[in-house]
Amino acid sequence: MNQNSVPPADAIGRLIQELNKLPGIGPKSAQRLAFYLLRSPQEQAERLAEAIVTLKQQIKLCSVCYNLTDSDPCALCRNEQRDHSLICVVEQPQDILAIEHTGVYKGLYHVLHGAISPTEGVGAGDVRIRELTGRMNNGTIREVILATNTNLEGEQTAMYLNQLLTPLGIKVTRLARGLPFGTELEYADDATLTRAFEGRTEL
Ligand SMILES: [Zn+2]
Repeated sequence: MNQNSVPPADAIGRLIQELNKLPGIGPKSAQRLAFYLLRSPQEQAERLAEAIVTLKQQIKLCSVCYNLTDSDPCALCRNEQRDHSLICVVEQPQDILAIEHTGVYKGLYHVLHGAISPTEGVGAGDVRIRELTGRMNNGTIREVILATNTNLEGEQTAMYLNQLLTPLGIKVTRLARGLPFGTELEYADDATLTRAFEGRTEL
């Protein structure tokens, strides 16, 4: 064992500590995962470690829609089969996964990476709104669908975007009220999300 290596017991402690920082993983789960990994084959642990490192090295933001991607522009923006006159605005990249899972939408996306929240000091300049309005310039955008969460921040953001985009002559729609107030899009079920999309109304 070389001088820098951590003694085995500490190595387990360190892993438990790191796992415990993950969302939804309490101390007990962290411990269970650490001992599971300890027992698992060497290659399995290495694949996991490698996947985490690669994630941090290769994943970047698409320079058009700000979705997470390993190629720029992302596969969605590059896809000519999709309707490039529609942009669906979401708060987080996970929301795209939820919407794509329904298969109801075939346009493009724009990820804000947050929502306007005066109480938390998040202003319009702290989310990717300027980048969204920049995409309106080429005249191909026919409709912007606001799919921000149905909580206070999401509604405020939708209202702000409506005031910003409508004067540009863009049709602005909001997902139908089928989504209960307080819903985070990524947790909405397929049927509810599909209904909300199909019943979207102009603001
Ligand atoms: Zn993109």
